[in-house]
Amino acid sequence: MGIRPTGVLLLLWLFVGCCESETGHFWHVTDMHWDPTYNETNAALSCNPGTPAHGPFGKFGIFSCDPPWLLLESAFDFMKHHGIKVDFVMWTGDDTPHIWDDKVLNMEWVHEIIAAQTELIKETFPNVTVFSAMGNHDWSPKNELPPRSDHFYNQVYNLWEAWIPDDGEETFKHGAFYSAPINDDLEMVVLNTNLYYDSNSQTKNMYDPANQLQWFDDVMTGIEQDGRKAMVMAHVPPGMFEKHANKSWFYPDYNEAFLRFAKKHAGAIGSIHMAHHHTDSFRLLYGDNDQPLLPIFLAPALSPWETTLPGVMGGKGNNPSLRLVEYERETGSIVNINQYWSNLTLANLQGTAKWVLEYAATDYYGIENMDGNSLEALVQSMKLDRDLFDKYYSANGVQFDPNEEWDADTQNVHICAIQNLHYADFALCMQEANRAGSHDPSALVFLSAVLLSAFSLSYIT
Ligand SMILES: [Zn+2]
Ligand SMILES: [Zn+2]
Repeated sequence: MGIRPTGVLLLLWLFVGCCESETGHFWHVTDMHWDPTYNETNAALSCNPGTPAHGPFGKFGIFSCDPPWLLLESAFDFMKHHGIKVDFVMWTGDDTPHIWDDKVLNMEWVHEIIAAQTELIKETFPNVTVFSAMGNHDWSPKNELPPRSDHFYNQVYNLWEAWIPDDGEETFKHGAFYSAPINDDLEMVVLNTNLYYDSNSQTKNMYDPANQLQWFDDVMTGIEQDGRKAMVMAHVPPGMFEKHANKSWFYPDYNEAFLRFAKKHAGAIGSIHMAHHHTDSFRLLYGDNDQPLLPIFLAPALSPWETTLPGVMGGKGNNPSLRLVEYERETGSIVNINQYWSNLTLANLQGTAKWVLEYAATDYYGIENMDGNSLEALVQSMKLDRDLFDKYYSANGVQFDPNEEWDADTQNVHICAIQNLHYADFALCMQEANRAGSHDPSALVFLSAVLLSAFSLSYIT
């Protein structure tokens, strides 16, 4: 029996028309930390102490310093010629170099650096929507982003005006947050989580800095009422740093408040994307019945700079990285992550930076997609399967040292950080893990401190 022409058309629609538009792609670029003072013969302003002894200064950079413009150019040249047509670009901040002396990096210089990278993105992606969040290094002194209107927010708005809808102008100038449609079904909510960073003295002991959480609640309520979904992006993430026994970023009250609102609206949020760690990891937000509600993806940095944070376990740097994300256009849920990297040592040796695929997450981890249930299954397997955790661990530092050994304590911190975004839960998880192995007194002290502070938390409603 033959197939009628209408049947052929229906089949064509099913296999081509209907499904082609269900998923799209976007680039996630973050933590470029361009150091304009980097050159191949001298220590740049961002270089860590002892850098000259650490290795030769390559033309694409060195692990102990922030990168030269050449590395940024090579990354954007790669994206330009990749061949994929992306729906948008996600840029999650930290554009300036790490410089301890805040007097050196003044606001004028911060502005010049943000402007240069804005121009690079616009040249590379003309006519492509860009969603952009500020990082804690996009200010001078660093971290001090204010919870109120500021001349510098106006200046950054002027740079990004083409990317921000008219109704986002007021909130951006008031605190660098806004929302914008990705398509008819999906909204991008851009938050300024630097306002919750405990290194930001401007926002200490406030109720709701810049009224951002109230705004977030209102925007998400509107999105839900319209039957739409959201993707959320920001620079500093909630929860704990997975490479440290007890390092968190948010003030405790803000951590609780942010998680409460994220949980409240999780049904309408497809995914959350953040950065700041410079490492490749993810977090899972759970519901009251311990079911995974929502993943938070943490994208690794373009800058290879080795952290100077005391107490970091394992390798301190990362190879330069870029992330190509496949997402569901209707829901904002993530289908796959294609992680690209450039081997910095090789790039310097060969005189050219090659950008290659590090992994496609579903193949690499053997999971169906990147939703909460798949990632929950992955993290459960990572607890038992040494090879699987080893894969995650190599990717965590973007192949910084693929042969690096890790021990049970290191594994415990990563797993506890992934599954426990509330500080008290993380402390309990570590206590539980340590009970099975050697007891770590510092974790117990931290647990006591967190439990004490938990009693004094004032929740934002
Ligand atoms: Zn950074
Ligand atoms: Zn940062």
